[in-house]
Amino acid sequence: MLAQPKTRQYDVIITGAGPAGCACALALKDSGLRVALLDKASFPRDKVCGDAIPGRAIKVLKQIDARYEDAFEHFTQKCDTKSTSLHYKGRSLTFDWVGDAYTCTRMEFDNFLFSLVKEHTATDIFTETLPHSFIKNEDGISIAFKNKPDTFHTKILIGADGAQSVAAKQLTNRTLDRNHHVGSVRAYFSNVSGMDSGKTEIYFSRKFLPSYLWVFPLPDNMCNVGFGMLSGEIAKRKINIKQAFYEFIDQDPILKDKFIDAKQVGDLEGFGLPLGSRTLPYSGASFMLAGDAASLIDPISGDGIGNAMLSGKLAAGHAIKCFEKNNFTATFMSGYDTALLDKIGVELKTRHKAQQTLSKMPWMLDAIFLACRNKAIKRIVQKRL
Ligand SMILES: Cc1cc2nc3c(=O)[nH]c(=O)nc-3n(C[C@H](O)[C@H](O)[C@H](O)COP(=O)(O)OP(=O)(O)OC[C@H]3O[C@@H](n4cnc5c(N)ncnc54)[C@H](O)[C@@H]3O)c2cc1C
Repeated sequence: MLAQPKTRQYDVIITGAGPAGCACALALKDSGLRVALLDKASFPRDKVCGDAIPGRAIKVLKQIDARYEDAFEHFTQKCDTKSTSLHYKGRSLTFDWVGDAYTCTRMEFDNFLFSLVKEHTATDIFTETLPHSFIKNEDGISIAFKNKPDTFHTKILIGADGAQSVAAKQLTNRTLDRNHHVGSVRAYFSNVSGMDSGKTEIYFSRKFLPSYLWVFPLPDNMCNVGFGMLSGEIAKRKINIKQAFYEFIDQDPILKDKFIDAKQVGDLEGFGLPLGSRTLPYSGASFMLAGDAASLIDPISGDGIGNAMLSGKLAAGHAIKCFEKNNFTATFMSGYDTALLDKIGVELKTRHKAQQTLSKMPWMLDAIFLACRNKAIKRIVQKRL
């Protein structure tokens, strides 16, 4: 006889085991709640990214458990970022990093986080599991799958399923807004000349301002090289972003020499960045969204890993509160939105303003390069990077 489809019951289900989902599962480890973590991929898996791991990501790990920061310290597949150089019209400007920052492939970093969840929590993990419908009911949310006959039911769903979040689409009717979304491409290269493993490099071109091309060093003489533009601009100017990427390297006076002996390893891959430049609802009855599913990427730097992990941790904290108060209503859930905006709302607004200013007044970049000849001004700019 064929087995009957079952319904599995959980207190919290997290969809997506990227930085947001893993931070959330780690932060729930001592909650006593029954937690499941689902991902459509199997790990280790790649994620198109610049591979710059912001200090905020490691700070969140430490806040969850100081042992995880130690584990990252001993993790060898990373480079410590000590400085970043900006290049524009043949001029260069180098800023030293005050806080921690790293580069590390997402294949390695995300697998590091995923392994922590496997080793340190009682989370039920389901990989190669693709939810295709989220149905709200009186006491939570039911999830049905494309590739599994069973259904899952949860009191709280945490949607951490990335930039193309099915949870966000179905539970908030969210649509892509090209003015708050970046289209980007990245490829790995070996043998890029003149790289320092502690220095990330950023190149501007007048044609694409305020967009930039990044060259980030990785272990084993590899580099992550990428380029992104506001999706609205790509559509308006009918830009072929893959073509623009190679054109940028060929036409920039420094890059064309740096890449003479470089060898591309793998394909040039594209992916979107949902920016945190618009405020959206991050929760509703019985659910919260975290990371790219909640659109939290810094509009200037493109960093999203730190905010993803912070939001995952905050969502875990709020889920615990919901169980303490036995309250899963939309009103109570909105405490998560408040907590998130308290932490990063002002920062995202300020960075959005800076992004807009640079788009409208590209000459500002010339002014910044000029003004930074003055050490005091350079220190002020550095603080805002
Ligand atoms: C080209 C590019 C460069 C970037 N560079 C940087 C950078 O250098 N530094 C930085 O901090 N940020 C960078 N970002 C942003 C960063 O990649 C994201 O902000 C970050 O990955 C968000 O983490 P997340 O956990 O929310 O989502 P993700 O990392 O995307 O993880 C989502 C997880 O959900 C899974 N998933 C997806 N859909 C489903 C589904 N339907 N069901 C189940 N599971 C699902 C995926 O397999 C994945 O494991 C970059 C982004 C891009 C596109």
